[in-house]
Amino acid sequence: MIIVIDGPAGSGKSSTARAVADRLNIEYLDSGALYRAVTLIYIEANRDKEVFFELLNQKEISFYYEDQTFYVAIDGQSVTNELRTAKVAEFVSEVAALPRVRSFVNNLMREAVIDGLYIAEGRDLGTAVFPDAELKFFMSADLEERAKRRYKERKSKNPEITLEEVKQNIAERDLKDSKRKADPLKKADDAIEFDTTDVTFEQQVDKICSKVSEVIEVQN
Ligand code: C5P
Repeated sequence: MIIVIDGPAGSGKSSTARAVADRLNIEYLDSGALYRAVTLIYIEANRDKEVFFELLNQKEISFYYEDQTFYVAIDGQSVTNELRTAKVAEFVSEVAALPRVRSFVNNLMREAVIDGLYIAEGRDLGTAVFPDAELKFFMSADLEERAKRRYKERKSKNPEITLEEVKQNIAERDLKDSKRKADPLKKADDAIEFDTTDVTFEQQVDKICSKVSEVIEVQN
């Protein structure tokens, strides 16, 4: 069974999905982290698409969730700490717009969720990857609010970062993610829309947990 949360960068999908996963004891899948890992391979290939796709075919990407962290490894080497760098943020939407990359990541995700109960988050999960998901949410929030949240998260690891930089990166990614031809960022018709601009984190988690619990009960 799969529950999905889609939405733009910084809308609170990831922290909310992790909190829901922990509270309800279900598995968590971070599709953005997989696109970020693929972007590391793209950077390794010096952005040469031919070299990149050759490397992508050879490498094995593995992942699991534990202790509030979604761990990703390439050929058994952890890349978890490299996924959130400015360089990856700069190129990830360019890489994620490539249809071959999308089908590669979609296959990884579909294989991963065959058994068990998952909450997954991303941009196109309710529309393209898991159109039959049992429950779909679309989270959004004002750009200003999303930038502030992201800035707060990133500042401890990267003290040089500025709010303006974060805001600009988020705005650019949103634009690229919503305008791309292949599976753009889009609310599924049957997704529950959730604007979190004026909602506390606890309220977000409570709301999603109660809906998820209802669906789990019905399924059982
Ligand atoms: O969620 P996160 O900010 O880590 O996602 C990084 C990028 O990965 C997004 O800006 C988007 O370009 C891409 N992405 C995507 N489809 C998804 C999840 C992420 O295109 N389902």
